[in-house]
Amino acid sequence: MVNLPDFILKRLEKYVEDKQFSDLNEAIVTAVIHMVVHADRYGLNSIKKKVKWAIEEHNKAVKAYKESIRLNREALERYKKAGCKQYKWLSANDQRTCEECRKLHGKIFDIDDENAPLPPLHFGCRCTIVPVIDFKKSWR
Ligand SMILES: [Zn+2]
Ligand SMILES: [Zn+2]
Repeated sequence: MVNLPDFILKRLEKYVEDKQFSDLNEAIVTAVIHMVVHADRYGLNSIKKKVKWAIEEHNKAVKAYKESIRLNREALERYKKAGCKQYKWLSANDQRTCEECRKLHGKIFDIDDENAPLPPLHFGCRCTIVPVIDFKKSWR
């Protein structure tokens, strides 16, 4: 039985509890847990390396998530300032797109509606918004 440092075990527990996983992180955690379970086969050093890598990957994903929150909020503010009244939700709509994001694809929301959803909907969400421009109105 290999004794893993406490902080690694705590981190692993948190990974498992945290429901906001992207597919990538789930794969990483699964790999790490597999190594911990078969610790005798892998050895402590390679497990430590793998956990370190997993934590780094996780941190990268967290950073990307925060960046996405910031960018979408900024976009909304820009549309508002430009006099735009509505925005349209765009999801990637590919095989990796989840049901929740797919449902929102093409939906139009009022910019002033504080309860309207704004991407990212979850960890790893790749959705974005575009302004809805009323051409008829602006040409009149
Ligand atoms: Zn989604
Ligand atoms: Zn999404």
